[in-house]
Amino acid sequence: MLTPVQDEQQAPSANGDKHRIHLFVLIDALGWEYIKERRFLNDLLPYRRPLRTVLGFSSGAIPTILTGEWPSVTMHWNLFYYDPKGSPFRWLKYFRFVPDRIMNCRVTTKVLKEMGKHMLGLGPLFDCCVSASVLRWFNWVERKNIYERGGISGAASIFDHLETNRVPHRVYTYHHWSDAEIIKLVDKDIAAKTAQFYFVYLSEMDMFLHTHCADKKKVDERIAWYEMQLRQIYESARAIDPDATLTIFSDHGMTPISDRYDLMKDVASTGYASPEDYLAVYDSTMARFWFFADEARQDISGVLENTPCGRILSDAELRSLGVFFEDRRFGEVVFLLNPGWIFSKSDFNGPQWMPVGMHGYHPEEDRYSDAIFLTNQEPLTEARTIRDVHECMRRVVVPMS
Ligand SMILES: [Zn+2]
Repeated sequence: MLTPVQDEQQAPSANGDKHRIHLFVLIDALGWEYIKERRFLNDLLPYRRPLRTVLGFSSGAIPTILTGEWPSVTMHWNLFYYDPKGSPFRWLKYFRFVPDRIMNCRVTTKVLKEMGKHMLGLGPLFDCCVSASVLRWFNWVERKNIYERGGISGAASIFDHLETNRVPHRVYTYHHWSDAEIIKLVDKDIAAKTAQFYFVYLSEMDMFLHTHCADKKKVDERIAWYEMQLRQIYESARAIDPDATLTIFSDHGMTPISDRYDLMKDVASTGYASPEDYLAVYDSTMARFWFFADEARQDISGVLENTPCGRILSDAELRSLGVFFEDRRFGEVVFLLNPGWIFSKSDFNGPQWMPVGMHGYHPEEDRYSDAIFLTNQEPLTEARTIRDVHECMRRVVVPMS
């Protein structure tokens, strides 16, 4: 999303120097494990450390980076939440007699996805990643563009601060361009002195690592490509502002997959009916349940407790991870797989999806989940979690009092 740039004459920089340049680059899924022993801009970015991510996926992690608040505050965690009264798909109840096999077929899913994007106001990124037959119980978190002012419902984001402080800025995301196109645009915009704050979101590393994280040579090559591109834009920035800052960070890492497990089959074998007795949403590493019958709650919880490759997260644990929601909108019971396991069947991906890497594990139990933080500015306080990236960005936007 290209944000309109204000007139430089009328838009004083937060630090009083209109030629200052701050580059903040988010590389999706580039985990600490992939760069800690590789050369990656070490000469330019001497301050380097791993960052703990938040439990979940980019849909929770990126709003945390942008606001400095946990998902329990931003209300952005997984993309779908239980909201039968507010669901944009509640009208699907009139289709409840349509058999599941037709309701959940590819054509229906595609139609619902297009309706969500174009007719129901769910934004261009809406994807139908729960079964269509249960869609009428769920609402969609990312109705607004999270890279714009007011895009995150529960907290102010860096884009709110940029607008409030009238700091000329540019935002680049995959909504419009590929990573290579973004790099070219940033380089051009820096040379044209169009902004002081650049938020550069490079998203393609995520899919690359999902499919190639086990291939050392390919990973070497890809990281070298990013190094070359980022070195180029940094040099362009230095030509304008010799003190230009460059901070590179990620939202989470990527864990090599070692095993698969069919939890859907175990849950189905209890014989309870969905949606009458319970609802379930299966992401790649996490399954979330809502129950409407006590026996179903008891028996399905029993199945989850006896599953050897994962566990139910307690409320205390969810609280400590910043993902506890009083109204249970993201699940009454949250089951998480152990690092390295994925569900062999899930709502998120079809059976043809065979990744070698996955993310969405317990942030404290999996070193591969760690994100990165690399910068040429000595941080005033040490960044420890992805939440701390927000403060680093805010500090260059909001005038110090
Ligand atoms: Zn991913």
